[in-house]
Amino acid sequence: MEKIFQIADLLNRSSCAVALTGAGVSTASGIPDFRGPQGIWRSVDPSKFEISYFYQNPDEVWRLFTSIFVPKGEVAPNAAHRALAQLESMGRLCAVITQNVDGLHQAAGSVRVVELHGSVKYAVCTKCGMKYTLSEVLSKYNGSAPRCRVCGGILKPDVVFFGEPLPQEAFNEAVLLSELADVFMVIGSSLAVAPANRLPLIAKRHGAKIVIINSGPTEMDEIADIVVEGRAEEILPKIVEALRASYSEG
Ligand code: NAD
Repeated sequence: MEKIFQIADLLNRSSCAVALTGAGVSTASGIPDFRGPQGIWRSVDPSKFEISYFYQNPDEVWRLFTSIFVPKGEVAPNAAHRALAQLESMGRLCAVITQNVDGLHQAAGSVRVVELHGSVKYAVCTKCGMKYTLSEVLSKYNGSAPRCRVCGGILKPDVVFFGEPLPQEAFNEAVLLSELADVFMVIGSSLAVAPANRLPLIAKRHGAKIVIINSGPTEMDEIADIVVEGRAEEILPKIVEALRASYSEG
């Protein structure tokens, strides 16, 4: 519990706290992560999500994508997403940088969200760049890779595949936020994916306190000032509660 109060205190004194989230914030919403004990890569070969593999086998990758990444039912934000939205509305969090593609931070009410790896809510034409909502694309999906109605090019889910660059604007914004942050919290990420895992190092170099909240170790625990081992959906609401309690005391 002491670490919860330490983090609340850091947030209380910060002028720009930033959160970097990963798949671990969404597991409580029923979306599996990649590298956790029930992670997707335990049953699916990650090389199928290399961009070169997509161009060679678009039909197969679309089938895999729809079976793995398109939720079967309604997916709702959980207590971790809600706590981050509350921290922002309390003026204690400047932004969420997310590696997730599920849109759950926005659904929970977070306003400044930087999506580093794109979004499952869209598909994009690989030839002309035309963007479609995924729901429109899936309404006509017949098992083959969907095609652009403007130019006939193959559509790709608008998420970053291995071997693809990150969206430049989003990455630039994430770097800037990391440089500005005085508290940088990593939540639910193994920090195994570059270049997102460079962001805590950038923040550290610019003087931020680094907080890691994750179930299981990450690749950067040794650079962190505070590491909390546990579930984001349990720990983040406690931090919000500790902050609220400190306001009512003060
Ligand atoms: P990762 O799978 O590499 O790491 C997730 C980490 O979160 C693991 O260390 C796991 O032990 C931990 N974790 C699991 N449940 C947790 C919980 N309830 N509370 C706290 N920690 C928990 O995922 P990553 O670091 O985000 O990076 C890999 C890639 O995963 C990203 O590129 C992202 O695009 C992609 N991804 C996104 C989603 C999504 O949008 N929800 C889902 C799967 C993968």
